[in-house]
Amino acid sequence: SNGEPQQDCLFCKIVAGEVPATLVRETDTTVAFRDINPQAPTHVLVIPKAHYPDAASLAAAAPEVAADVLREAGEVAALEKITPADGEGPGVGYRVVFNTGAGAGQTVFHAHAHVLGGRGLEWPPG
Ligand code: 5GP
Ligand code: ZN
Repeated sequence: SNGEPQQDCLFCKIVAGEVPATLVRETDTTVAFRDINPQAPTHVLVIPKAHYPDAASLAAAAPEVAADVLREAGEVAALEKITPADGEGPGVGYRVVFNTGAGAGQTVFHAHAHVLGGRGLEWPPG
């Protein structure tokens, strides 16, 4: 894929402002917004504005934007005060997840990083 917006892509619609979302941060290349069904006190999605179906496709086609997504995940964690620099304990520290493929739980096929934190997180995940 070439990054062009896709019809019927939910996250392209959020980028376009056609579906509302609770924005956390925006850059020239990314948008971060709260997950509609949060699985932790902090559950933010960081997406590229360009459409790629998953993180690997994004990294292959636009590695600088993939790096932007990773940096923004860290910026979100800093805003939410859940980075290691914020101390220690079950609510500090966070996880960045890219579900890739339906078998791994991917339901929206526009690349996105989940930033999860604010509570203790089990390892390995379910
Ligand atoms: P996936 O399962 O593809 O890794 O993650 C998709 C995420 O998008 C899910 O956590 C789901 O709750 C979230 N989501 C689905 N629809 C919407 C929506 O309309 N708005 C927001 N903010 N999040 C959504
Ligand atoms: Zn899309």
